[in-house]
Amino acid sequence: HSGDHTGSVAVIGLGRFGGAVASSLLHLGHEVLGIDENPDIVQRWSDRLTHVVQADSTSTEALRQLGLRDFGRAVVGIGSDIEASVLTVLALEELGVADIWAKATSTKHGRILERTGAHHVVYPEAAMGERVAHLVTGRMIDFIEFDDGFAIAKTLAPREAVDKTLSESALRTRHGITIVGLKRGRNDFTYARADTIVEDGDILIVSGATPLVEKFAALV
Ligand code: ADP
Repeated sequence: HSGDHTGSVAVIGLGRFGGAVASSLLHLGHEVLGIDENPDIVQRWSDRLTHVVQADSTSTEALRQLGLRDFGRAVVGIGSDIEASVLTVLALEELGVADIWAKATSTKHGRILERTGAHHVVYPEAAMGERVAHLVTGRMIDFIEFDDGFAIAKTLAPREAVDKTLSESALRTRHGITIVGLKRGRNDFTYARADTIVEDGDILIVSGATPLVEKFAALV
């Protein structure tokens, strides 16, 4: 059989990571097929997901019978059992799933997943650990790094920018970063303009090459 599952996503392994992915996809309005080998977990998800089945995802045949061939996208949330994670990615690749995402618990695991056919490998613990390191040591309130060395951070305005317009403080020329937006007190974020005057306590949204953003956020 072949149903139309173009907008749907299969989430395999409904542990902490896979469960969070499935919840967010539901929230965003996508149809989700959840698969887990643990009957208790399947039971727990049965009233939240439209389709949740108990199956061993390392079996290509089982996945084929579940119609995985018709899914354009699948997320593999199995982490601790590396063998199961790799065999699941392999099965999805054999079925021709166009967009395979998989969670890795180490760089070696990630390398195997890439060679096995995963199109996107994510490292949730490593990525979150790096983010927390930035937040806990510096003045950064939030930090997002893109994989091409570009970052966006939320940070308190440094003294040198206070009581000046953004054009006067010339932060782009002096620090190589761009101020994208600015938040004052309980107000909403506003776009930064050349004539925006920065006040003490303002929160800035800064973008640029990661090391430059890090350096800028360390200024007091
Ligand atoms: P997390 O740390 O995100 O909770 P885990 O690796 O602990 O990730 O959880 C992975 C989930 O994947 C568990 O719910 C487990 O039952 C499921 N799982 C593990 N192996 C298989 C498999 N071969 N087929 C289907 N589900 C599996």
